[in-house]
Amino acid sequence: MGEDCIFCAIAAGEAPAEILDQDEHTVAFMDINPWARGHALVIPRRHAKNLLEIDQADLAHTVVAAKRLADRMRTALACEGVTLFNSCGQAAGQVVPHFHVHLVPRYEGDMLVWPERGEQADPEVIAELASELRG
Ligand code: 5GP
Ligand code: ZN
Repeated sequence: MGEDCIFCAIAAGEAPAEILDQDEHTVAFMDINPWARGHALVIPRRHAKNLLEIDQADLAHTVVAAKRLADRMRTALACEGVTLFNSCGQAAGQVVPHFHVHLVPRYEGDMLVWPERGEQADPEVIAELASELRG
């Protein structure tokens, strides 16, 4: 368990949360500061700081649990879509240092605004970056 980790405490049943679903490896619960009606989080029980540090099997379990919850959101909330995201690291906006996937139910015309689409880039620059990423 991560020291003083609020999400570890929730997973252990030692801190309050509106639990939605849980299994051997994961717990899903409501976000206390929702971006939209039904905003929830899915976490692995085992502490890992972020996407770069999480064990591959725990990541797989968490994504499968997220899909299960997305299906449930669709039927229970009649949302028209779901946004799934993860922030990895402070620069990405991660505040709680226990890996979590956000699931935000989406509705036509809702207020959740993502950044503008990217601008078209020089294909040569894209190719250079692709080359760096391929390694
Ligand atoms: P992050 O910015 O780290 O990706 O998102 C952390 C999320 O956890 C935020 O949306 C925040 O509202 C939520 N959160 C922080 N503390 C608690 C808590 O104690 N209980 C619950 N249910 N959600 C929390
Ligand atoms: Zn933790």
